[in-house]
Amino acid sequence: MMDYQWDAIVIGAGIGGLVTATQLATKGAKILVLESYVIPGGSAGQFAREGYHFDVGASMIFGFGQQGTTNLLTRALEAVDVELETKSDPVQIHYHLPNELDIKVHRDYDSFIDELAQRFPAEREGIRGFYGECWKVFNCLNSIELLSLEEYRYLMRVFFQRPLSCLGLLKYLPLNAGDIARRHIKDPLLLKFIDIECYCWSVSKADWTPMINAGMVFSDRHYGGINYPKGGVGKIAEKLVEGLEKAGGQIRYKSRVSEILLDNGKAIGIELTGGEKYYAKKIVSNSTRWDTFGKLLAQKNMPARERKWQQRYQESPSFLNLHLGVDESVIAQNTECHHILLEDWSKMEDEQGTVFVSIPTLLDPSLAPQGYHIVHTFTPSWMQNWQNLSPREYEQKKEDAANNLIARLEKIFPGLESGLDYQEVGTPRTHRRFLGRKNGTYGPISRRKLPGLLTMPFNRTSIKNLYCVGDSTFPGQGLNAVAFSGFACSHLIAVDLGL
Ligand SMILES: Cc1cc2nc3c(=O)[nH]c(=O)nc-3n(C[C@H](O)[C@H](O)[C@H](O)COP(=O)(O)OP(=O)(O)OC[C@H]3O[C@@H](n4cnc5c(N)ncnc54)[C@H](O)[C@@H]3O)c2cc1C
Repeated sequence: MMDYQWDAIVIGAGIGGLVTATQLATKGAKILVLESYVIPGGSAGQFAREGYHFDVGASMIFGFGQQGTTNLLTRALEAVDVELETKSDPVQIHYHLPNELDIKVHRDYDSFIDELAQRFPAEREGIRGFYGECWKVFNCLNSIELLSLEEYRYLMRVFFQRPLSCLGLLKYLPLNAGDIARRHIKDPLLLKFIDIECYCWSVSKADWTPMINAGMVFSDRHYGGINYPKGGVGKIAEKLVEGLEKAGGQIRYKSRVSEILLDNGKAIGIELTGGEKYYAKKIVSNSTRWDTFGKLLAQKNMPARERKWQQRYQESPSFLNLHLGVDESVIAQNTECHHILLEDWSKMEDEQGTVFVSIPTLLDPSLAPQGYHIVHTFTPSWMQNWQNLSPREYEQKKEDAANNLIARLEKIFPGLESGLDYQEVGTPRTHRRFLGRKNGTYGPISRRKLPGLLTMPFNRTSIKNLYCVGDSTFPGQGLNAVAFSGFACSHLIAVDLGL
């Protein structure tokens, strides 16, 4: 019998890894988190430049509600006795779409439905029908404790406690949002709107977006709302680390895991790039599945189940990111925090087709020097378009791409270019380098139409004592989604450890 120093080692301090670690630490497990970068948070981290505090990625945060069971970020922080002040956002997204479709998704559900129905009066019933079904999914989710669907005693317990909610979820599990939308809506333009409603967080059109995720996103924005953490999104991870340490867990930065160590096919520890080895009863990878099974484990150890998963799911594109500091005069009064810009429906899924914008300083002015705002804009981009370039060509391509994006944004923020105070460009290469994600991917997307979430893998892997957590496990991308994955993963490990 090996004498293990740790109950579990978590590879990576993204939100998925940190929720797993904190939950296990509160149950008395000895936890070590190894993070390759110098700060926690991964795609939900932040960095400072010349007085600006930029979010690396996520800025539109779900999961900070005060009621129900789906407010997983609130719960994760409370569990380790730490607090984070948040500011509620009155509008989730302001869409600027072709056909002069200018729609705001208000926090207030009826205001949103009214605005959409005014644009599509013949579809008022259909709109209520589609979003009403989303509420059905959400109400089922929001009435049950969200833990590991791989743990049969929990499944039995929730089934007996909430049989109708469970049956409701089972019904929607194999379905996609597009199928449900077409049952209620006929107008082709409105169906395109439902497509971009899905695409902007799932990077897939409605037909390929699981209904469970759509139900969650399209309802929680009106229920728990979108809430921005004071001090920036990076504070969520910082607070989780504070809680982890309070609960007796440890985190080490600049600790890149190069290999997961196996003995007789079972995970027993990890090796760092410097050669140090650590052993634990359970190993949790918060790295993507492609990195976990393609890099941290030798190819010969790739389980058949993973190969099958890779045949079903592919890497989504990464992003071209502009982190801008702009004079406050550029941002007109009553501008919303989050925007989506698309000029041509046929380009929605193209390289640099859809443009995302967040202006977090509208919710927390302390993130920028006085008199300035942050404009964080990003658009999908594939790694292959940024490879095989000389350093000079790479710099030139970055500059051209940034100029093009700024020119497009002039439509909604006139004077943006002349108001620029600071600019930093990130590419898929930046995402790969700083987030350790293969090709800088945002996460998995299906290769073809799949039956909802049925084929998304959970936390247990085919390798004994190795678990995965984060956006390449059920239920997918997004901070609240990876927090769900963290709750499920820690629950499963706690049961396996007998805690
Ligand atoms: C541009 C952008 C915008 C986004 N906007 C939103 C949004 O508005 N709202 C929202 O909810 N979500 C958003 N997301 C998605 C969300 O940020 C992610 O889904 C989520 O943060 C992923 O969390 P994770 O725990 O799975 O992994 P990650 O955030 O990728 O964290 C993994 C961590 O593991 C570390 N790591 C990896 N490999 C190793 C190794 N070998 N050794 C040690 N450490 C390692 C990494 O350094 C990283 O810190 C956005 C993402 C991006 C990129």
